[in-house]
Amino acid sequence: ALVLGIESSCDETAVALVDSERRIVAQRIASQDAEHAPFGGVVPEIAARAHAERLAPMIEGVLADAGVGLADCDAIAATAGPGLIGGVMVGLVSAKALAMATDTPLIAINHLEGHALSPRLADETIAFPYALLLVSGGHCQILRVDGVGEYRRLATTIDDALGEAFDKTAKILGLGFPGGPAVERTAKDGDASAVPLPRPMVGSGEPHFSFAGLKSAVLRAYDSGKYETADIAASFQQAAVDCVTDRLRIALANMTDLKTLVVAGGVAANATVRGALEALAADHAMRFAAPPPRLCTDNAAMIAWAGIERLGQDDPLDISARPRWPLDPEADPVRGAGV
Ligand code: ATP
Ligand code: MG
Ligand code: FE
Repeated sequence: ALVLGIESSCDETAVALVDSERRIVAQRIASQDAEHAPFGGVVPEIAARAHAERLAPMIEGVLADAGVGLADCDAIAATAGPGLIGGVMVGLVSAKALAMATDTPLIAINHLEGHALSPRLADETIAFPYALLLVSGGHCQILRVDGVGEYRRLATTIDDALGEAFDKTAKILGLGFPGGPAVERTAKDGDASAVPLPRPMVGSGEPHFSFAGLKSAVLRAYDSGKYETADIAASFQQAAVDCVTDRLRIALANMTDLKTLVVAGGVAANATVRGALEALAADHAMRFAAPPPRLCTDNAAMIAWAGIERLGQDDPLDISARPRWPLDPEADPVRGAGV
């Protein structure tokens, strides 16, 4: 089977064709970093406009690259949330139009499910169930994944997401946007023990996260003028990693039947994070899996793959775009079950 995937929930416009043999037959990604960089973050209105300008030619381009037509696709999978609503609507409405015009099934994908299942696109041996650390620009969660659509959330952040903490740290340090890769690069030349920084929540019996206090401490360290930028970056990265491994330890104590630990989302591209998780998994006699970095940050291959996993689903053409869409609505201790 062959599925066309469309992603437009944040600042990557992305289109991909993926088949059931896990081949990424063709894909294109247009990043909007240059458009948003002057503002130090993603501007929703600019993002929506950029998606609208780019998406149609990218869909044509990906089909042409693969030498196929929409008639060869078994479904069109598009991100329907969560994310910036203007961008999500651009992608979802385009998918609906193509689905209607060519009588192809539409599959509305939760962007977080795209991240959650991405390790299975990269590696056919990753079987359910698995423990998942989902660390991205908007989310920081620990989930138990029992199957497609079967997610139980054990932990979330009470303030910032981990990617957001990297982005804010980059902004404080003047490293530009997007921040994660810049902090990682800068940290390579720094001493991770040079700057004393807090590890929020470490030691707490509940596995939730908090990064706002760490960001404030980074700001104070920077303002003190006492430290090198690279040392602050390295110390921040180490503090963040220490938080993540401590929180995971607590969560894994409630998932002792699981044999695989998986990390996904943009921050999973970070080598220090990956290394620490690999060691943690080994400690727990668990297998560790992380998708290749280009499948960690936003892309359409993961959306097309989620479509392959959901093949047979045929969503109604009036399905709505959703700015909020928790993977596990039952377990939202912060905001409740609302969308
Ligand atoms: P969400 O998936 O929660 O809706 P998003 O789609 O904006 O949010 P992703 O594209 O999955 O997020 O991830 C982007 C985030 O990952 C950004 O915060 C970015 O700084 C971070 N990130 C990307 N690469 C790295 C890296 N090498 N090290 C640390 N963080 C990184
Ligand atoms: Mg981005
Ligand atoms: Fe994402």
